[in-house]
Amino acid sequence: MIIGATYALIGPDLRLCKDVLVYIESGKISRLLIGGKRSEAHVFYEEAVLVPGFINMHTHIGDAIAREKAYGLTIFESVARPDSIKFKILSETPPEKLVDGMVTALKEMAARGITTFFDFREGGVLGVKLLRDAISKFPLNGFAMGRPDGCSVEDVLEISDGLGLSSLNAYRNEELISFAEKTKEMNKYLAFHCSETIEQREESIKKFGVSDISRALELNLDFDFVIHLNYAEDEELALLAQKNKLITFCPRANLYLGLKPPPIADAIELSIPFALGTDNIMLNSPDIFRELETAVRLSRIQGATPDPKQLLSAVTATPSKALKLKTGIIDIGYQADFFVFDLAKPNVAFVGDIYKTIVLRGSEMNVIQTYIAGKPVLSQNEPP
Ligand SMILES: [Zn+2]
Repeated sequence: MIIGATYALIGPDLRLCKDVLVYIESGKISRLLIGGKRSEAHVFYEEAVLVPGFINMHTHIGDAIAREKAYGLTIFESVARPDSIKFKILSETPPEKLVDGMVTALKEMAARGITTFFDFREGGVLGVKLLRDAISKFPLNGFAMGRPDGCSVEDVLEISDGLGLSSLNAYRNEELISFAEKTKEMNKYLAFHCSETIEQREESIKKFGVSDISRALELNLDFDFVIHLNYAEDEELALLAQKNKLITFCPRANLYLGLKPPPIADAIELSIPFALGTDNIMLNSPDIFRELETAVRLSRIQGATPDPKQLLSAVTATPSKALKLKTGIIDIGYQADFFVFDLAKPNVAFVGDIYKTIVLRGSEMNVIQTYIAGKPVLSQNEPP
């Protein structure tokens, strides 16, 4: 299969190339031809750019059935406590309906160019199974980050892609160290929410004498990425920079809940690799275009002017490189995951610069097809 377009963003540095033909064999990119003949492609997209499929680094798609049920509530009333509205709805909903809800989220993401997501699934082993069930019905690259809810950490690691802890505060030091060891032994990912709220930090200080992120650093936990860090202090960010740890920011979800926005400008200044996530679907649509737009505006108010290409990398190549994924980059050997961004739509007329076009003006109206493992997943006649 050969798919071509007027432009494509190639390699880990998202290099803009013209007249690109992407050769696909068994779902992977086997060859790239720059300046190739359009007539050689099976499908050639004119006035379009092939963009690596977006990586949404933090979701909870299990709560798709509760979209907008927590509008105006605090984080504690909506998602953060066992008696919050999220867990009430999750426990009252039959599993089949939860799966149907998750499938709507997968379709929503594919329509916006998202081909990969890391879902922080509640409900232990069963929760991960339901997510897998949803993915079997609509084929996105879903990484299931489970948690030891009602099961052992080994059991959840067995069927998941890693551990995605809600908070470090619920676990003793020895438990966290053993979680990290087991995760690495089984070659899986370890990630957790951190310093999302001031209360989360204060609880950690009260119980363990240090903030949650300082504790993770002091325990030398070998984690792969950390989410939020809205209330992290400068020294903590500097330590993360030293360790070159990936941070996932979720600016729109934070703002929806009235929390302090994440330190995106600091991450840019300190050269900390960062990614973006859309967090709970009940609070926030899984839309990376809107997340990019919000990240730009937040950075501006925080005193930085982010390079649009760096932001585009935050949702493609940066997490791909940090976690050694076989997606998020259009290059030989990678899975053929990309979307076709239409440059002929009126919303992007006269912008010129391709990175600004996608990051500052792009929207789902520009996504004319999304390919996952070389297969188109959006039906033209039957939009998902
Ligand atoms: Zn979360």
